[in-house]
Amino acid sequence: MVKIEYERKSRAAKRSVNWIEELERAGLSPLRDEPLARHTSFKIGGPADAFVTARTPGQAAASLRIARSAGAPVFFLGWGSNLLVRDGGVRGLTLALGGDFERIEFLGPTLVRAGAAVRVPQLVVSCAEKGLSGLEPIVGVPGALGGAIVMNAGTREGEIGPFVDEVETLDLAGQLSVIARSSLRFGYRSSNIGTALIVSALLRLKRGVKADIMAAVARQQQKRFQTQPIHTFNVGSTFKNPPGRFAARMIEQSGLKGYALGGARVSPMHANFIENFAGAKASDVLALVDLISERVRAASGVQLELEMRVVGE
Ligand SMILES: Cc1cc2nc3c(=O)[nH]c(=O)nc-3n(C[C@H](O)[C@H](O)[C@H](O)COP(=O)(O)OP(=O)(O)OC[C@H]3O[C@@H](n4cnc5c(N)ncnc54)[C@H](O)[C@@H]3O)c2cc1C
Repeated sequence: MVKIEYERKSRAAKRSVNWIEELERAGLSPLRDEPLARHTSFKIGGPADAFVTARTPGQAAASLRIARSAGAPVFFLGWGSNLLVRDGGVRGLTLALGGDFERIEFLGPTLVRAGAAVRVPQLVVSCAEKGLSGLEPIVGVPGALGGAIVMNAGTREGEIGPFVDEVETLDLAGQLSVIARSSLRFGYRSSNIGTALIVSALLRLKRGVKADIMAAVARQQQKRFQTQPIHTFNVGSTFKNPPGRFAARMIEQSGLKGYALGGARVSPMHANFIENFAGAKASDVLALVDLISERVRAASGVQLELEMRVVGE
């Protein structure tokens, strides 16, 4: 029994080494045991077995095919600004995008095609400079376009979803497809993108006056500076706002604003933000999440739902 288990484990280990070697042979320069704390705005997260940054669609497709043929799980990483990666890290392939995926093309009076790795603030400002309006409310979302579409990033003043005309994806077999507007569904910080990798999107914006759009962008930025702890290590809102309520106010009313647990604390500036203020582990953040959920439930009967995504072991 012990021998069979040993052989099973050693076959699995060999397979896992082989597929990473295959990524190397294909020129995809995988980083082994790459600490994901280096790639998340929380600065928290254990290692990825193999971390690849694909710079072309060909590299992304090849990485996916190699992982798939070895049965290795795949995780897509954007800017890591909505993620809590657990301390044990992420098994299999973690795939990030750069290079060709950082391009923005202006295709007509209102159409923009952007790669999934384009940072949202850069996209919004580039569009504003061309007199294209619509995305101003999300200028302060620090993520990349792919992550913003998956999460339907937004604020009370607007979300990205209504401006997405088409999304280009690679499935886990490395096949390219296009999801048309009519098949896309967006909800509150959610979409129906599923398990595919977003590689680019076509956005349909509105024509506007450049000076007005720039002024709206500046207003949004200023509001954020005044109300959010944007210079700390965090992932934005921890919890979604329950219908008709504000998670931040409910947490504040539970007496936890500023409360610290290990290296994590409820932001003294905005109670729906958790900050890694002193070398926090994912376990500190998760313990704080549990405490907040429990206190808010006890005080109001409402079960808060996470907005940040928790991944890994
Ligand atoms: C200071 C601060 C302020 C914030 N303010 C806001 C705000 O106002 N509104 C808001 O909505 N969010 C906000 N956020 C959260 C975060 O920036 C957004 O959710 C953002 O859209 C996440 O993008 P990302 O590239 O960082 O995605 P990641 O955090 O890397 O990933 C998020 C999810 O998307 C998936 N994903 C990422 N890229 C792809 C891809 N190319 N294809 C398929 N799946 C992919 C990941 O697997 C993961 O499930 C804030 C965060 C911070 C740190």
